[in-house]
Amino acid sequence: MIVVFLGPPGAGKGTQAKLLSQRMGFYHLSTGDILREAVKKQTPLGIKAKEYMDRGELVPDSLIIALIEEYLPEKGGVILDGFPRTIAQAEALESMLNAKGKKLSKVILFDSPDEAIIDRLSGRRVCSSCGALYHVKYNPPKKDEICDFCGGSLVQREDDKEAVVEKRLEVYRKQTEPLIDFYRKKNIIYRLDATKGVEELFSELEGIIKDDG
Ligand code: ADP
Ligand code: AMP
Repeated sequence: MIVVFLGPPGAGKGTQAKLLSQRMGFYHLSTGDILREAVKKQTPLGIKAKEYMDRGELVPDSLIIALIEEYLPEKGGVILDGFPRTIAQAEALESMLNAKGKKLSKVILFDSPDEAIIDRLSGRRVCSSCGALYHVKYNPPKKDEICDFCGGSLVQREDDKEAVVEKRLEVYRKQTEPLIDFYRKKNIIYRLDATKGVEELFSELEGIIKDDG
């Protein structure tokens, strides 16, 4: 089963994908996480991607499509978190899956107004060591600035700073939002009100994913 998580930055896609991976065994494929790892290691992909990410722009489609070709597992449940983000990426995914005799099962739209997104992004903190997600108000660590799981230090992502957030929202509206119509026409899109709490969203999501109808 292949499920796409679509929605603006900060809507809670990564949080829910991590829960689905822990509780239901889905493979969590986050293009953002793979790119950040590549940036950290200064691989050729990381060096190219960094300039786009720092500006809040999308990394070119050709790089992202090659990355998905490399990381998409052959078997098992997969959550695609943060991919596709353009029509060209969605079309490339479709042909990749067609070639393997597979198709996309469901697209989940994490719908959220801008105020909620800005609140989520400005308070997001990430463990610099294991990548666990926190929020200063909604999911604070037990000890200030320290990861509950591994003791790593918590940091704010560079692109969560105010100047870049505005650009990322603009990019989402222009380049990614057209995917809602693209998938609506295929009748595989399900909307979630992403302003709800983590556990409430998880149970709605679980219901959608388990429903075969
Ligand atoms: P995305 O992957 O869509 O960019 P994240 O999952 O990283 O979003 O969530 C953004 C921030 O909002 C994080 O700090 C996270 O802890 C917090 N968060 C995620 N889901 C919720 C929720 N349902 N309610 C409150 N805060 C949330
Ligand atoms: P995310 O972690 O999903 O918020 O992504 C962080 C950044 O990585 C984005 O702002 C983009 O610069 C880049 N990125 C992640 N996924 C994609 C994608 N599918 N297409 C293009 N750029 C991406």
